[in-house]
Amino acid sequence: MTRLPQLRDQKEGHKTLIAFMYALLADCLGILWMIHPTSSIFYGLVATVLAIHGRIIAAYLVHEAAHDSVFVESWANRYLGIASTWLAGCPYCNFDHIRKMHIAHHKDRTDLVEFDYRSFVQSSPGIVKTLCCVGEYCFIPIVETFMHLRQAFLLVYCYHNTINILIRSV
Ligand SMILES: [Zn+2]
Repeated sequence: MTRLPQLRDQKEGHKTLIAFMYALLADCLGILWMIHPTSSIFYGLVATVLAIHGRIIAAYLVHEAAHDSVFVESWANRYLGIASTWLAGCPYCNFDHIRKMHIAHHKDRTDLVEFDYRSFVQSSPGIVKTLCCVGEYCFIPIVETFMHLRQAFLLVYCYHNTINILIRSV
């Protein structure tokens, strides 16, 4: 007989399962609400936000499952990751590939995580700090977005600095 998977965090782990149920409900209800024939534009927008929020939560769950941080058993994290990938709107993605690429991204030298986002948020002006904190509290990945933008423009920044160093040395 197969044993039920064990939550890695016995005290708080159930919150991850509640988040999964929320993502499932938000996605299903949001889509049903959007396509309901009596739905107005206002309720259509509310339904869209609900569905998007559910998918963002699902994307967080894909991340947790990729790190094997929800269940003790790797197979249970894999099934959660596959289900969450579907809920996040990416049924065409292979979770095993996502997991492999994500762990590689943490190992790479130019990884996003080498950016000290805590210092960035702490040293930011008050409004930026408040936006980051409120956004992250609402599961809107603002800090992650900053990290990706920084990564996207890092080559331009490095190139600019290299050119300046070369100009000064001539
Ligand atoms: Zn990660």
